[in-house]
Amino acid sequence: MRIGTRVVRAGLPPARDGKPLLPGPVFAATYHLRGDPPAGDSGYGRTHNPTWLALEAALGELDGGYSVVYSSGMAAISAAMRTFVKPKSRLVIPADGYYRVRELSARLADEMGVDVRRVRFATEDAAEAVRGADVVWLESPTNPRLDVCDIAAAAEAAHDVGAVVVVDNTTPTAVGQDALGLGADIVVASDTKALIGHSDLVLGHATARDEGHAARLRGERDLHGAIAGPQEAWLAHRSLATLELRLQRQSANALAIATYLAQAPQPTRVRYPGLPHDPAHQIASRQMRLFGPVLGFALPSRRAAEAFLAASALIIEATSFGGVHTTAERRARWGGDDVEAGFIRLSVGCEDSEDLIDDIVAALAAIPT
Ligand SMILES: *Cc1c(COP(=O)(O)O)cnc(C)c1O
Repeated sequence: MRIGTRVVRAGLPPARDGKPLLPGPVFAATYHLRGDPPAGDSGYGRTHNPTWLALEAALGELDGGYSVVYSSGMAAISAAMRTFVKPKSRLVIPADGYYRVRELSARLADEMGVDVRRVRFATEDAAEAVRGADVVWLESPTNPRLDVCDIAAAAEAAHDVGAVVVVDNTTPTAVGQDALGLGADIVVASDTKALIGHSDLVLGHATARDEGHAARLRGERDLHGAIAGPQEAWLAHRSLATLELRLQRQSANALAIATYLAQAPQPTRVRYPGLPHDPAHQIASRQMRLFGPVLGFALPSRRAAEAFLAASALIIEATSFGGVHTTAERRARWGGDDVEAGFIRLSVGCEDSEDLIDDIVAALAAIPT
């Protein structure tokens, strides 16, 4: 079945009369457990919860592997790092990806002697980039620069040297990009963003193609305890059903806005993988099903970007992305990312695209010259 059908049905239990389509959250710290416990069942809420299991079944179906759910995207990322990166491992990470991954890697370098190499996968030769690596960490499109790397080529080069390949698939989600299908061994994601899509929950997951890798991740979660609450897991599962619908609308809106911005006089550059002349377009068209809600554009200065955000009536100034409400921020306000002072990361929501474009036209016109 196609992804638009799978995402609506993923993880639902078989039909049983009198039972709900998606069972509600199960709140339990302990379960009845008499006599010798069966293998793998501790009867305890840190290691087992039926509401996570349903969400993990859904995410596993969509990613094409075995999923483990965590309390946040960073919990999933830290778990994958702790599981696959060992003292003195050689770790290759994107130079332009999520900044907390660079921070975490720097700490692993300090504490465990991990040899961390930062690479621009969008422009560097894949075989050269992964030479000698034990773990290759990819992110595409990157947050916030929106660079795209050829995942299949990077994964093949990494496998040639025996490395484990992890892809942060937060920005596209499983609906937008089949990272395991492109060659990743492990997918990690912040489900806080487009997957849940309502800006109201923090959650993450990792999916392994191999059952043994998933068992190691699950064992690590048992020890570190970064579990999801049942209410959050259930709400995430409920939100999943509209993911493809939301992303279709958001991607169409984002393309319309990017197309407008690309010919407007004020932006000095626009990045959106769906724009035909974007440097990422060719690879993105090959490896992404949808180009997603996030676009970036640079205004000439910090002052211009701040004036634009202040003048917009519809764009909510907030960090994060992927939600149904259109949000944006001047990304350089945080520091740490290689973007211009006037660079705006715009996450396009599900509003009417004509209203969004009218608002953007007016907000650009309000920038003082
Ligand atoms: C937000 C984000 C994360 C971190 O996820 P949290 O849910 O905030 O912990 C990781 N990777 C990418 C690409 C992100 O955008």
